[in-house]
Amino acid sequence: MTPVIESEEQKDLRAAVAALGKRYGRDYIARTVAEGRHPAELWAEAGKLGYLGVNLPEEYGGGGGGVTELSIVLEELGAAGSPLLMLVVSPAICGTVIARFGTEEQKRTWLPGIADGTRTMAFGITEPDAGSNSHRITTTARRDGDDWLLTGRKVFISGVDIADAVLIVGRTEDARTGRLKPCLFIVPPDAEGFQRNPIDMELNAAEKQFELVLDDVRLPADALVGDEDAGLLQLFAGLNPERIMTAAFAIGMGRYALGRALDYARERTVWKTPIGAHQAIAHPLARAHIDLELARLMMQKAAHLYDAGDDVGAGEAANMAKYAAGEACVNAVDQAVHTLGGNGLTREYGLASLITAARVARIAPVSREMILNYVSHQSLGLPKSY
Ligand SMILES: Cc1cc2nc3c(=O)[nH]c(=O)nc-3n(C[C@H](O)[C@H](O)[C@H](O)COP(=O)(O)OP(=O)(O)OC[C@H]3O[C@@H](n4cnc5c(N)ncnc54)[C@H](O)[C@@H]3O)c2cc1C
Repeated sequence: MTPVIESEEQKDLRAAVAALGKRYGRDYIARTVAEGRHPAELWAEAGKLGYLGVNLPEEYGGGGGGVTELSIVLEELGAAGSPLLMLVVSPAICGTVIARFGTEEQKRTWLPGIADGTRTMAFGITEPDAGSNSHRITTTARRDGDDWLLTGRKVFISGVDIADAVLIVGRTEDARTGRLKPCLFIVPPDAEGFQRNPIDMELNAAEKQFELVLDDVRLPADALVGDEDAGLLQLFAGLNPERIMTAAFAIGMGRYALGRALDYARERTVWKTPIGAHQAIAHPLARAHIDLELARLMMQKAAHLYDAGDDVGAGEAANMAKYAAGEACVNAVDQAVHTLGGNGLTREYGLASLITAARVARIAPVSREMILNYVSHQSLGLPKSY
């Protein structure tokens, strides 16, 4: 059989999601941002069509595919100008972790709603005093009878305002210091002692970020997902899809910006020919296209490895894909804005705000430098400086 990069079903999914994205597009997202609300209509329709849960098991209402399919959904919505950031979090991280490590009861409670979009879950690992160094997180769970009491602080947690629960990464009291032995808790945002404060971001996005303060939040025993001793393995089951999905987010945004630049470069004429005929305009756009394609290839590799059950192989590829996609996105957006000259900075064309948005893919969920560190140490065997 001839090896193919994407199956017929995956190509069909790509085309169908692209058509849905086109019906909403950038104008729709711009409207939701202006109205300060979540893109609820697109989220609901994508959920109804089965796109939000393509990666989740069929027996819990999902599509039975993998992160390969989910990354196609996010990339195509983004390429249409209407990305759904919460796809990175709700089905990709939380859905995956619950599907792989949750109890039967947790799966039945959460997965069907995550899959059809009627329930959303946020994810909180980042802390103000830990940042890129997750081993320093101090959010701590201590036992109180059968319950847990969770205390700590988180920052930059996306979508808490629309979430039915937040999957919080903490550590148990007896593992309070040293190498991170994470444990994950499903925390309802209306729990006593749970406070959320919006962070004023310079981002023109529908999804908002929050600081969380957890002060002895009481949780039942079954709020713990998986085994409290399973540690990093369980966490990375969710973090690898997060990286792959951030790559999809970045590639989608890069493709959208490149598309707008190409439309403009084909039409705009200030000398004898459209500006796209000048190689100073054409070549950087061609390079941006190549870089996005290369990043997608690495993303597809990472997704295939992950879906095939190779968590270790997927880890390296997911990091590389996130790096490549983040850089390709930042550069594509920058070149797109430049191609439009002064119009690149107008609200009418709506590209300038992507300059800030594209940077998210460089910094989150793991920064460019931390991926270069990872590759230096893990792939190349170089010594560590920290
Ligand atoms: C829009 C947005 C949404 C987010 N959503 C979520 C979410 O839903 N849930 C969640 O848990 N988190 C979320 N985050 C947080 C994100 O994962 C963090 O911002 C990211 O991990 C970086 O941590 P930090 O901001 O503390 O930066 P820091 O760790 O303080 O890093 C600052 C700078 O120092 C560099 N640096 C740090 N250490 C090293 C080193 N050893 N070598 C070289 N350079 C280094 C970094 O690369 C970076 O450039 C979100 C962030 C943003 C911007």
